[in-house]
Amino acid sequence: MNKRNEQEIEIVGAGLVGLTLAHLLAKQGFCLSIIDKAEPNVELTEDIGIRVSAVNRASENIFKELGLWQNLQDYRMGTYERMVVWDEGSQARIELDAAEIGEANLGHIIENQIMLKVLWQGLQQYQDQVSFKVAELSSEHPLAADLVVGADGAKSWLRSKVGIESSSHDFKQQALVCTVHTEKAHRYTAWQKFLSTGPLAFLPLHDPHLCSIVWSTTQERAAELAAMSEQQFNTELGRQMGPDKVFGECKLLGLRACYPLHQHHAKEYVREGIALIGDAAHSIHPLAGQGLNLGFADAKVLAEVLSNAKKKGRNLASKQTLLQYQRARKHYNAAVMWSMYGFNGLFSNRLAALACLRQAGFNWINKQSLLKRFFIKQAMGINE
Ligand SMILES: Cc1cc2nc3c(=O)[nH]c(=O)nc-3n(C[C@H](O)[C@H](O)[C@H](O)COP(=O)(O)OP(=O)(O)OC[C@H]3O[C@@H](n4cnc5c(N)ncnc54)[C@H](O)[C@@H]3O)c2cc1C
Repeated sequence: MNKRNEQEIEIVGAGLVGLTLAHLLAKQGFCLSIIDKAEPNVELTEDIGIRVSAVNRASENIFKELGLWQNLQDYRMGTYERMVVWDEGSQARIELDAAEIGEANLGHIIENQIMLKVLWQGLQQYQDQVSFKVAELSSEHPLAADLVVGADGAKSWLRSKVGIESSSHDFKQQALVCTVHTEKAHRYTAWQKFLSTGPLAFLPLHDPHLCSIVWSTTQERAAELAAMSEQQFNTELGRQMGPDKVFGECKLLGLRACYPLHQHHAKEYVREGIALIGDAAHSIHPLAGQGLNLGFADAKVLAEVLSNAKKKGRNLASKQTLLQYQRARKHYNAAVMWSMYGFNGLFSNRLAALACLRQAGFNWINKQSLLKRFFIKQAMGINE
């Protein structure tokens, strides 16, 4: 038992979600330990990190609550005021604009390495409450605290250790990610074109002519794109943006990396003494940039549940306490996950009837201002 809590809390995983939970709990006066196979790598280089995330308003508010938003703004940060989504098959198009709900923007594009650095540095102020251990947990490792929180990613050690099952689906797609320089400015807009093989997204970075690309496509196509010479890749990217010529010429900067795309959803988020958050509980298709935002929201709700239980002198690790967290998050996460699954399937299908349906649906939605306001708030995480 540690010096201040009645019960010990251990967080497995010092990724973005685990560190956010650690921060939220430390701010509420909890003592805890974090364990990860490596100390977070917080060395920033001049190069833009290959992994970036669309961070919505709900997540921005969490960083503000932690007093870390200003620290993030001291680094590079892109802003998107609009989202334009269109379909290669039907040319149907939806545009969502922050101005429609009187907001200045829909969210920000932030490099994962910058968020990790800011969270890690911010935690240093809680040195007397938070300890960090480096270890790669394997099956023999015992559960060493009253409450163990799994923030250990999609292949969660904790989830398999305690035998929590997950429903899963392999999209048989990969996401190719890279940074590009664009001839035409991005206009503070997140662009997403649905190709028959999957969505191609351009996310606006801090510089008006720099975008981060997330190109979800078949495994074969991703391998082909990754193996192309820079020149071929640039030509191919320009060709895919097609007659729309949204960006003019695109020029690859730095490396390309590919990530296999799966979704999974844990059948239980909690057991007595156990809670799963972030990708350990759910991972989803990146097409709407929501996976990390859902993980941040998990961390916030779990911290609130634990803090209330502590104030009322209740057992933090009891299933009854932890179920409050599961009830608040599981159905919502499932709804977002299955919407992404549905979108991916709907747009990857070349049936003529579906192309007509997409066109009619998109064009209809684009004219419904109430519905568009609903979608905007949903994307910003402020409809929950
Ligand atoms: C291409 C792509 C683009 C994306 N874009 C977006 C976006 O724009 N917006 C968005 O919201 N989401 C996005 N996502 C999703 C997002 O990246 C993930 O949801 C998020 O990174 C998950 O964070 P996490 O902290 O839960 O898990 P992870 O980042 O996987 O962290 C898990 C941590 O646990 C540690 N760990 C694992 N196993 C062990 C073990 N056995 N012992 C010790 N430590 C262990 C790891 O070292 C790691 O530090 C995207 C995903 C992909 C693939």
